[in-house]
Amino acid sequence: MMLSEDTERLSRLVPLLPKLWDWYRANARALPWREPSTSPYAVWVSEIMLQQTQVATAAPFYERWMERFPTVRDLASAPLEEVLRYWAGLGYYARARNLHRAAKDLLASYEGELPSDVKALLRLPGIGRYTAGAIASLAYGIPAAVVDANVERVLCRIFGVDGIPSQAATARRLAALAEALVPPDAPGLHNQAMMELGALVCSPSDPACGRCPLSDACHAARTESPTDWPRRRAAKRQVRTAHASAALFRSDGSVLLVRRAPHGLWGGMWELPRRECAAGEAPVQTAERALREVVGLRATIGAELHTVRHAVMHYAITLHVLRASEPEGDASPLDCVALRWATPRQALELPLASPQRQALERLAAMQHLAG
Ligand code: SF4
Repeated sequence: MMLSEDTERLSRLVPLLPKLWDWYRANARALPWREPSTSPYAVWVSEIMLQQTQVATAAPFYERWMERFPTVRDLASAPLEEVLRYWAGLGYYARARNLHRAAKDLLASYEGELPSDVKALLRLPGIGRYTAGAIASLAYGIPAAVVDANVERVLCRIFGVDGIPSQAATARRLAALAEALVPPDAPGLHNQAMMELGALVCSPSDPACGRCPLSDACHAARTESPTDWPRRRAAKRQVRTAHASAALFRSDGSVLLVRRAPHGLWGGMWELPRRECAAGEAPVQTAERALREVVGLRATIGAELHTVRHAVMHYAITLHVLRASEPEGDASPLDCVALRWATPRQALELPLASPQRQALERLAAMQHLAG
């Protein structure tokens, strides 16, 4: 049931919505996935790419992706390794793996078409309430609500929502508010306008209330500090973690690479054999253990070649790359799904997570300098 204060504010907000839609028509950014001919599949791909990625970063990836995988069928029939390669650089690779799995499901159950029903969409891997609402409303004109981070911020400020958005009760309140606002005759226009307002006007740190079409109904705009909303949890403390990779070269200049199993952080990606350093374990020991556990090789671990620092989610990762030599026996895939030898330059063509890409770029540069 809706709070009475929300009902009262809704009655002031709804008459302003046509101003919001006019503002959107006049100010929307021209983005590749906003062409009138955009297919439901393309809406889906763009929404998944935009989940953790800025619009400007996602746009060139989206265009490359749609050129290579223009339909669900093209995506479903491509090998996962190629799909990951087209995703490399966007991070959060589970999104690409889920797109690939869902494309296969769509081919098997829906002849390669995306269903318009929100419940059916929610059954596909990687599609949550937000993405399902976006596909249903943007691609099929179904009046489903969309609450992404931009909409969440706009709603929290307009309604003065004091709960933390990630908490279940507050999330339900925001979903109910978003639903109450969606017009049955133009859900796609409305949802895009709300998202764009959050992106261009009601920004996280500097909302431009003076040019906001909804300011007359906004609670936060009447306070000293609109940026006090949305309320936040105390920031998660950053976790520092160290990893070590062994760079085992052959005399022809190729280095041993392994492909991780297709799950977890960096699942399905190629890398130099790697392990996380245990408490009190020196990188040289970790690199030795990585070779032993991942490919069953014992080798001598030598000098540290370089160190890569990388932040992902709330982790601050330090990757130590150490030279390995004099292996005993043959490598076999014990804790990986494949292994191969490639020069660092060739390896850069494979799907690689960012720290491994940096490590291999430096190895390629070292080889280049050594002539
Ligand atoms: S008036 Fe200001 S705080 Fe309120 S929605 Fe508009 S930009 Fe955001």
